[in-house]
Amino acid sequence: MKYISTRGGAEPQEFSDILLGGLAPDGGLYLPESYPQVADELDSWRGLSYAELAFEILSLYITDIPTSDLKAICDKTYTARTYCWSRDPAKAQDIVPLTSLEADFHLLELSNGPTLAFKDMAMQLLGNLFEYVLDKRDETINILGATSGDTGSAAEYAMRGKHNVRVFMLSPEGRMSAFQRAQMYSLQDANIFNIAVRGMFDDAQDIVKAVSNDAEFKARYKIGAVNSINWARVMAQVVYYFKGYFEATRSGQEEVAFAVPSGNFGNICAGHIARMMGLPISRLVLATNENDVLDEFFRTGIYRPRNTAETHVTSSPSMDISKASNFERFIFDLVGRDAAIVRQLWREVDAGGSFSLADGPFAARLPSYGFVSGSSSHADRLATIRDVWQHHGIMIDTHTADGVKVAREHRVADVPMIILETAQPVKFAETIREALGRDPLRPAGFDGIENLPQKVEVVDATVDQVKDIIVRHC
Ligand SMILES: *Cc1c(COP(=O)(O)O)cnc(C)c1O
Repeated sequence: MKYISTRGGAEPQEFSDILLGGLAPDGGLYLPESYPQVADELDSWRGLSYAELAFEILSLYITDIPTSDLKAICDKTYTARTYCWSRDPAKAQDIVPLTSLEADFHLLELSNGPTLAFKDMAMQLLGNLFEYVLDKRDETINILGATSGDTGSAAEYAMRGKHNVRVFMLSPEGRMSAFQRAQMYSLQDANIFNIAVRGMFDDAQDIVKAVSNDAEFKARYKIGAVNSINWARVMAQVVYYFKGYFEATRSGQEEVAFAVPSGNFGNICAGHIARMMGLPISRLVLATNENDVLDEFFRTGIYRPRNTAETHVTSSPSMDISKASNFERFIFDLVGRDAAIVRQLWREVDAGGSFSLADGPFAARLPSYGFVSGSSSHADRLATIRDVWQHHGIMIDTHTADGVKVAREHRVADVPMIILETAQPVKFAETIREALGRDPLRPAGFDGIENLPQKVEVVDATVDQVKDIIVRHC
């Protein structure tokens, strides 16, 4: 399988060559040349374990790693030991257990990994793939990133102790929850460097961009990224749509719907790809919070990214996104994989503008991709958390609540609705207390993590101070 850029200006590449990079050199995102068709495999895949299923799917997309090595990577990544924080410990073997709220209305638990958010599902695989490819090539990488919470901790837990990898993770000083800070800063591994920046998330993000734009520094210190546009992350997420499908159906003839709390369009993009591969998904329900850029697109055909000043700070913070970086992948498919059209549309977006597909050929084609959407407010979130707790005895986090709220608006009789559960409530304790008047449930292994010693360097929001830290540790 070769990978091409959504903007058409890059040579087709093998998987291992795009794994360690971010954007394609022409500014586009990588996608496989075609989507393997698997409708005929569904019944034979039904009984597979998560690791076996991951191997079947990934081996269609990764053709430059020997199959026995890829199998070993899948087996090592998807173990019940790593994804052990399930509501029902007896279900940990499932890796992504299904919990039913009522008939044909289910949660797919994706947040049972080491950082209690769904990003572990892909990031743990990325850690093992990075280590494998770097070992083969005898190369090193210094991952530089900025985080407002979930991404940074998932990256650190995936890369801790790995050969040839260091992580430099910037976070805004004092702006993450105490639990999130404790998760990241209590890591004592020699290859993990936490850097708290005196400023906001955007200041941290700007520093990462400035360092990455310094071509000489970037090459000299082998700076890399693990951000959400990385193809391997999207690919890894395709697997759980299949697993969720098998859990909620009895035969490969049945259809299901998925509801996905969305920010950067990474998670739901994987659902789109699963559907393109032939998984019978009747609807992909996209849920946003108050930052409703994507909901607006699927309702009106107008894509109007906001600037950071227009982005709301909400109680589902991992969805506070003004510009959905993976959205370009879907548009590439929608416009018939015509890179010239994508280039033209993103000329507007990259210049701070918007585009409309409301009239013309693509508006007519849009419904055939199965997307519907809706948005949620803080009050909706509180009401949904309360309702699910009172009626089902199940505690959900704020992002999952956005998914449940919008899923309810798009239910169709006799079609199972599967809501992707993207984080555990303990990460967002303040809103849980507001909704339920009590502390969130805390998985046993996380008792008292706020009291562990923390390792973090605090710096001013300047590029030079961050570069100094990288130079000092390399
Ligand atoms: C990252 C994240 C999201 C958004 O996922 P995207 O892939 O960016 O759409 C939703 N919920 C939680 C808890 C997250 O960490």
